[in-house]
Amino acid sequence: MSNTDFVLAVEGLSVSFDGFKAIDSLNLYVDRGELRVVIGPNGAGKTTLLDLICGKTRASEGSIKFRNEEMTRLPEFRRVRKGIGRKFQTPSIYENLSVFQNLEVSFPRGRGVFGALTFRRTSDVLDRVRSVAGEIGLENQLDLEAGLLSHGQKQWLEIGMLLMQEPELLMLDEPIAGMSVREREVTAELLKRICQNRSMIVIEHDMAFVAQIAHKVTVMHQGKILAEGAMEQVQADPRVIDVYLGH
Ligand code: ADP
Ligand code: MG
Repeated sequence: MSNTDFVLAVEGLSVSFDGFKAIDSLNLYVDRGELRVVIGPNGAGKTTLLDLICGKTRASEGSIKFRNEEMTRLPEFRRVRKGIGRKFQTPSIYENLSVFQNLEVSFPRGRGVFGALTFRRTSDVLDRVRSVAGEIGLENQLDLEAGLLSHGQKQWLEIGMLLMQEPELLMLDEPIAGMSVREREVTAELLKRICQNRSMIVIEHDMAFVAQIAHKVTVMHQGKILAEGAMEQVQADPRVIDVYLGH
């Protein structure tokens, strides 16, 4: 494939588990600054797709290009350094540390060669913690123990921990599961805000939420893409209604 403007270009991607094709010759292109939502019935392969993009699972076939660079055989930590951030379904924050400390430990260290510039590094960290805390709406909770946050706030904190790394592609798996109505509204605003500086892939079931945030929707079914396009277009597609929305 030649160079493209896509931040992410997935082509011919497949993975098999014991002969079962969980992802089957899938193509996916995500633009810079795009917020893509992936929907589909349970078992469609949505989580597996994110596992393949972030490097948690190795592809059997196909290619994953991030900013025109081949990622398919890179280990997960190298993909993180390249700018791919991934949030899993269950939050993985440090409950015993404060919100501040959770963000602080997520600042990428040792990236540059000049690790000796400690003073500058420290003020960089503080600046980033403050700006990320503001972005996720936890600027007044910085000293609070993370374990005391509400369920929604914990999810936002974990998104903040990813933002500390300034990912160019951020992937979230069912970020509003278990949230209250109010928390869902706040999360929609949060996601719209943070995708102004990056691309995002969000897996979600709640169609009202999807309608609020999605630039484009990809519908997966049996490891393949069933439909893709604007929300209204996808919602009106008889095949989508048949396998997913009709239930
Ligand atoms: P979704 O997130 O859309 O609900 P998943 O990606 O979790 O779907 O799963 C897709 C299919 O792949 C399911 O049938 C699941 O059981 C299977 N699968 C996912 N991961 C593994 C694995 N590590 N080993 C074996 N089967 C898996
Ligand atoms: Mg899943």
